[in-house]
Amino acid sequence: MEIEIIRSRSLKPKPTDEGSLGFGKIFTDHMFSMYYTQGRGWHDAKIEPYRELSLDPATICLHYGQMIFEGLKAYRGKGGEIYLFRPEANLKRMNDSARRLCMATVEEETFLKAVRELVVLEREWIPKGRGTSLYIRPTMIATERALGVHASEEYLFFIIVGPVGAYYPEGFSPTKIYVVEEYVRAAPGGIGFCKAAGNYAASLLASALATEKGYTQVLWLDAVHRKYVEEVGTSNIFFLIGDELITPPLSGTILPGVTRDSVISLARAWGVKVAERPVSMDEVVEAHAAGTLREAFASGTAAVVSPIGQLFWRGREMVIGGGKVGELTEKLYNEILMIQYGEKEDPFGWRVKIWG
Ligand SMILES: *Cc1c(COP(=O)(O)O)cnc(C)c1O
Repeated sequence: MEIEIIRSRSLKPKPTDEGSLGFGKIFTDHMFSMYYTQGRGWHDAKIEPYRELSLDPATICLHYGQMIFEGLKAYRGKGGEIYLFRPEANLKRMNDSARRLCMATVEEETFLKAVRELVVLEREWIPKGRGTSLYIRPTMIATERALGVHASEEYLFFIIVGPVGAYYPEGFSPTKIYVVEEYVRAAPGGIGFCKAAGNYAASLLASALATEKGYTQVLWLDAVHRKYVEEVGTSNIFFLIGDELITPPLSGTILPGVTRDSVISLARAWGVKVAERPVSMDEVVEAHAAGTLREAFASGTAAVVSPIGQLFWRGREMVIGGGKVGELTEKLYNEILMIQYGEKEDPFGWRVKIWG
């Protein structure tokens, strides 16, 4: 697909302090957009000046939530080269989300070209510090103007990008996690495996509750038994119990994280025994009591891995690994970062060089 490029004539000033970039607050000068019409497919692919969207108040997505998104990053290597990390995995997941929500799918070639051309055009916006990156947010919304509940016949797919700061500017800090029983994120047969907007709306109340109680994030349990661990906030979760690295299986209620998959592959390549299996809170509590719960961490694109220092469940406060960052957690963090920034060979072929 041809992408028309319309350059902005008034470029915004770029941030000068990489230390105060934060996350998701600054966007660049351009965006990618294309439209889908049933019978015609995707058309009018453009990279154009970043703009507001104008939607009729009766647009389907505003009422019935046909909205999905993705999240990935572009990284700048030491020599100025630019890398993406497993972008085809994000596209595959976006198409899985699209199929579940009866939305249009996007071809891999179109997606990769759109991301590459936009990021290369905006390359001056990519910060240089280690841990910083250009965050990429592909999004699809249903744009048909109609108030009947049905799958839209029209879609808008757009990509916006913006510089984001290092997640750990002062080094790793273990998080305090609140295990929530009252609310669930996703139920079997639902849309828990999709990066669908509604999942995040459903999670806000529990997150607010955890924050109010002084915790960084919530740990979600399964909707049926309220017993098995699912995810932590918007990240996947891992426990190192004895010599086994355990993470819940992709049963349809959790998000199949690209970082999760990368952690599993790396750990296995290092000879660590990895199990994708249900893990109950009872098992976690018993392992903690027995002293075999050695490490716990969350995984996701934003932070790569985030060490869990404390878990609160049913009035019980469990400190993990003495509240310090675990050895395997740290090793995984460093290894993934080195691969992403082109500082190390890439045995799995995850890195995609798009510039330099
Ligand atoms: C995005 C996301 C993750 C992590 O996925 P990555 O591909 O590793 O970034 C995990 N859980 C939820 C709910 C998410 O939205």
